[in-house]
Amino acid sequence: MVMGGRHGLTRKPRAVGIMTIFLGFCLVSSLWLTLYSIVRARHLSVEEPLDFTSDAKISKLVALSLQDPTLGGLLPALKEYEPGQCISRTEEGPIRIPSRFTPSPYLVAKLRLYENRHRKCAPKAVKLSKNGTNSRKELGDCQFVIWIGNSGLGNRMITILSAFVYALLTDRVLLLDNTSTDIDGLFCEPFPGTSWLLPENYDYNWMNTVTWENTNRLGRLLQMSGFGNITIPSPVPNDYIFLNLMHDYDEHDRRFFCSRIQKQLKKVSLLYWRSNNYVVPGLHFDHSFHCKLDLMFPERATAFHHMARYLFRPSNSMWGMILRFRQPYLDGARRQVGLQVRILESNVTIPIVADQLLACVLEKEILPKGSSSAEDMLLSSKTRSTSVLVTSLDSAYYETLRNYYLEHPVEGTDYIGVYSPSEELYQQYGSDHDKKAWADMYLLSLSNTLVTSPRSTFGYVAQALAGVIPWFLTKIDSLETANETFQAHGPCNRGVSLEPCFHAPPALDCEGYGNGLNSSNIFSFIKPCEDVIGGIKIMPSYANDITAEGKTESRSERKT
Ligand code: GDP
Repeated sequence: MVMGGRHGLTRKPRAVGIMTIFLGFCLVSSLWLTLYSIVRARHLSVEEPLDFTSDAKISKLVALSLQDPTLGGLLPALKEYEPGQCISRTEEGPIRIPSRFTPSPYLVAKLRLYENRHRKCAPKAVKLSKNGTNSRKELGDCQFVIWIGNSGLGNRMITILSAFVYALLTDRVLLLDNTSTDIDGLFCEPFPGTSWLLPENYDYNWMNTVTWENTNRLGRLLQMSGFGNITIPSPVPNDYIFLNLMHDYDEHDRRFFCSRIQKQLKKVSLLYWRSNNYVVPGLHFDHSFHCKLDLMFPERATAFHHMARYLFRPSNSMWGMILRFRQPYLDGARRQVGLQVRILESNVTIPIVADQLLACVLEKEILPKGSSSAEDMLLSSKTRSTSVLVTSLDSAYYETLRNYYLEHPVEGTDYIGVYSPSEELYQQYGSDHDKKAWADMYLLSLSNTLVTSPRSTFGYVAQALAGVIPWFLTKIDSLETANETFQAHGPCNRGVSLEPCFHAPPALDCEGYGNGLNSSNIFSFIKPCEDVIGGIKIMPSYANDITAEGKTESRSERKT
């Protein structure tokens, strides 16, 4: 809530000049935001549920989105891309529920500037030397964030997105490691006339050394800097720094989120990004990032949603795979319910989660309860259908739901069809498995209602693309305590924000005194996650809200 001077996040006693620039920037920000809030009059709040049962409303939204394939300016005009390069870009409109959120004019402007910068700078990356570094002379005024692939596909997508937001905030260019992930097999190139992949001559053997032991890891450089540990050597050897943002990063690496470190990083041309975290909430802790993020996403909890829709479109081969499932099984349904089950705890069994899933959809009236009436023996009693898409590694959840609806007639006008696109049994790596995972995430994201598993980035991606706040299955710690947990919390609960959880936020210690600040107490709109203990999340809020709390916040920001 209060960004006071105690923790050094914002204490800059001598930096009057910089402060004036920040204040000026924030002033311009609030003008933008006021203008934006007037234009926004027709928007719905993140919290306000949209009535997707109204066919008329959906048709109106679909018609609007077909008129505007740029999604309100979020995407570049279609003519910017080579024809046929990305079929899903033109064909997605009729099958995806349009977003309820319009991108801000500032975000749209930032993206167009970014695309120009990418076009100009990406070709310079062929000059990166054998050890993935280079002299500033050869890169000119181009600076880069180089994303290193890591973990499952959902994790990789949330970290690409985080690194891209960082690139937008710092005027850098994002380039992706294409070895650990078959990026071009999965996604269309998002930036017209260029590529977001590292050049083919890139030295990936060297990239394998960019790990904890790397001498240019930010935390290590800071740790070696002595008292306070807050200074990066300048110039830094080889002009690159490795940002380790993995869940188990140490207190030195965590200083990445401090303004004083960000100021020093501005001088470094190449930043390597290895992470399995959605770090956008943490970027708010830098004052100038906070101002820009509020301009980019005045409806704060829409950052992930807008950026996912901007970055991730299925490649042509993926599009075929998605349609081959969607058209025969899901097309024509009045409503689609997506259920995603991922068990991340070792001591929880499949049957108990299958029962939990069924209890969730019935108790929360997400799907109709079986009835003793024999009404649907008449062909004419049911005229429509609801599709239930179940994704998980194991088919048990799909079978439980399918059997339930085969064995029980339900009230209402809908037949309930239960479908599952894949059965991988256990987590596997490689292009073929990533393709199935991406198809599953994308198909889930076409749902009107979602039930997902806590902590799963796989579910986060579906929720972002769908623009739907999911119901989270209640986390069970063990079989012994499961019933007690369900009695206390129910089988599932509706999430409160469209944003995903930052699983391992920093305890901010920007002055190196060893007293970290609790990151869920810094801003009123960043709160503990509903699905992960210790995580933080951007909650629904408007950047220009003039609430009592908002006033406190802006006053304390002004102190900086
Ligand atoms: P998280 O571990 O749940 O956060 O999600 P990730 O996507 O990062 O990692 C899980 C990986 O396991 C995925 O990338 C898939 O390879 C696999 N996986 C998990 N759940 C599913 C599923 O429902 N369908 C498919 N096809 N693969 C899955």
